[in-house]
Amino acid sequence: MSVSTAAADQSVCTPLPVLGRDVTVPLVTGGEVSYAALDYAASAPALQRVWDDVAAYAPYYGSVHRGAGYLSQLSTDLFENARKTVAEFLGCRPADQVIFTRSTTDSLNLLARAIPADCEVFVFETEHHASLLPWQDARVTYLDAPRTPRQAVETLERALAGRDPYGPALVCVTGASNVTGELWPVRELAAAAHAHGARIVLDAAQLAPHHPVDLRDLDVDWIAFSGHKLYAPFGSGVLAGRADWLQAAEPYLAGGGASRRVTRRQDGGVAVEWHETAARHEAGSPNVIGAYAIASACKALTEAGWDTLVAREQHLIAKVREGLAEVPEVRVLSLFGDDAPRVGVLSFVVEGWNSSHFAAALSAEYGIGVRDGLFCAHPLVRTLLGSDPQTQGECGAPEAAPGEKSLNAIRVSFGAGT
Ligand code: PLP
Repeated sequence: MSVSTAAADQSVCTPLPVLGRDVTVPLVTGGEVSYAALDYAASAPALQRVWDDVAAYAPYYGSVHRGAGYLSQLSTDLFENARKTVAEFLGCRPADQVIFTRSTTDSLNLLARAIPADCEVFVFETEHHASLLPWQDARVTYLDAPRTPRQAVETLERALAGRDPYGPALVCVTGASNVTGELWPVRELAAAAHAHGARIVLDAAQLAPHHPVDLRDLDVDWIAFSGHKLYAPFGSGVLAGRADWLQAAEPYLAGGGASRRVTRRQDGGVAVEWHETAARHEAGSPNVIGAYAIASACKALTEAGWDTLVAREQHLIAKVREGLAEVPEVRVLSLFGDDAPRVGVLSFVVEGWNSSHFAAALSAEYGIGVRDGLFCAHPLVRTLLGSDPQTQGECGAPEAAPGEKSLNAIRVSFGAGT
């Protein structure tokens, strides 16, 4: 995957309007300052356009797939059109299904519940916990952290070469690291997986907000992402991809909406026929506003143009790196090396500083909102910091006193609204 590093033309490339852009915050030193939101990787501010679209829909609010009334039909249309928009945004194949979930975590847990019982799973130890942990009930192989993209592919190939080529297998990999922002060689990993008869799911939580993601082009079997990182509000996510495993599995949740027909049996129980569409895994009243908001964000990003968005973001990354390079105490964390292409996510430590105290000071003294901690990727951050893998550190805990070696890091992240 390549990223254009052309400098952004500032005259044509302005940030997309987002909520909270004009928020001012008080400083401990007195006075107020315009808030700099640099924690997009956790949750990106929603685009103003998304908010406006949701507000425009609000007067027509109705239940989805459940009513003959006009508003109900309108909501159903909006919900199903949102599915089509997301399918287009992700470059889905005609037979793929788009399932609306609550988040990336929810999407990957859904898939983990849908894989065949004898499925082997391969996952790098460097993954976000949402990609690392849902496979605990499967035959899972954790792969060591690679130090180059090539090594990632070779590590996976070696692991897959030893497996039964006729049994089902799944590789789960992230597109862009939520710690370093570095891009993973998704296309090459997908080719390696398929060459060994395995399938692959892409955790696009950090890739999709920063970079075009095309399921066919990358040749991945599934993609998962979260609305609240893609400039939509909280509470909605997507799992998109191949229908067969999803439709062979029991529904993720049992209930109305997932069931096509329910009857009493002679023996007193109930018999259920489940849907064979995306609805099978969307039991209960769906989050129609969340789905509509995601679709609106997808349209806004497409209309803004990825070339422009990527060029602007690369320009900002270069500026941040330049600034950090002027401070000798700063060490930027990287798995694949300083020149590795990355999205607008970057973590660092400052020698002599406790990362949590440093992040708190950025907020209190400068109005800059960043994240500190282990970023729900404990094994990866410990590898990057060179700390003892057995160290008991919590996300965000101020583990090291000033002057001691940092046991956690500071993360700066930005995007289309920065
Ligand atoms: N995957 C990656 C790479 C992430 O960065 C995150 C969140 O930070 C997740 C998955 C989980 O996303 P969510 O909390 O929206 O489920």
